[in-house]
Amino acid sequence: MSLPPLSRAAHDPDGASRNDPELVSRVAADPGTAVMLVYRGEVAAAEQGLSLFSPVELPAGALAAGSGRVTYLGRDRLPAGAAQDGGPSPRSYLALTLPADLGAERDLDGVAIAEDAALAGLASSLHWRQLRDIATALSDRDAGLATAAVALAAWHARHPRCPRCGEPTVVEGSGWVRRCLSDNSQHFPRTDPAVIMAVTDAEDRLLLGHAAHWPAHRFSTLAGFVESGESAENAVVREVHEEVGLEVAEVEYVVSQPWPFPCSLMLGFRAVLAEAPGAPVISVDGEEITDARFFTRSELKAAVQRGEIRLPSQASIARVLIEQWFGAALPESA
Ligand SMILES: [Zn+2]
Repeated sequence: MSLPPLSRAAHDPDGASRNDPELVSRVAADPGTAVMLVYRGEVAAAEQGLSLFSPVELPAGALAAGSGRVTYLGRDRLPAGAAQDGGPSPRSYLALTLPADLGAERDLDGVAIAEDAALAGLASSLHWRQLRDIATALSDRDAGLATAAVALAAWHARHPRCPRCGEPTVVEGSGWVRRCLSDNSQHFPRTDPAVIMAVTDAEDRLLLGHAAHWPAHRFSTLAGFVESGESAENAVVREVHEEVGLEVAEVEYVVSQPWPFPCSLMLGFRAVLAEAPGAPVISVDGEEITDARFFTRSELKAAVQRGEIRLPSQASIARVLIEQWFGAALPESA
């Protein structure tokens, strides 16, 4: 089975180095470092993948430590023994998150602040792309770097204050920790687990549903967030029952994909309908799910080719689960 595109990674996250308070400054001073840029949730990208910059190509001060905008993503993974051979040291990676209101800040005379003006100029010269739109075009390395960078940028943007006392927090751990200056509590990037499941019936037909807020003809696997105090397996059973009124058994984990929009981790499962007399009776909840059907493989392929069904994007774990059941890649909708 092919991995979901954003589950790929090839770099060494090098978590053991993050607590060195000089790390970001040292890495930012190395012209061999590669810096990726995040702006309003999007990444700077070129035809061939991420746009990566040497620190010397960026405006002066852009990578200043303590700004809270710079995160250490890790370094190249070297073959075992390569470092001892006196070879080149691995390349390090930083993510620079540009402020969302770039260029809007003015000094008392109404003049754009010089550093921000330089960054705004850089931002306007680049191509910004949604990670989910370019996921399949990225290399394993770029997929891993970009997914971490987008997830961290979203977390920092949403968690400027201490959840315990409400005071502002400062960024530590090379961008991976926020600490409250008032009560000294540490806070770590948040990830919300969600389950997504390929449900089949006794005839191995696949259940796909249409969510109320989706465009017409879009059908996909059912999904939902794991609730507090709930196992992922129990979440699969509950969500299927709530959304379509069916009971499942044989819940089996398949694969996961980070989905940092803003902070989900999609846990992919297979599940089979529990044995029950008669044909399964689908009863959609009418709020989250407004239509749901079972498809044989030939029915699904024909419906996709006729444009009656639009499948989720190639970047989604849903597509991976559907194609795993189907046994091959499915065509794009007509
Ligand atoms: Zn606090």
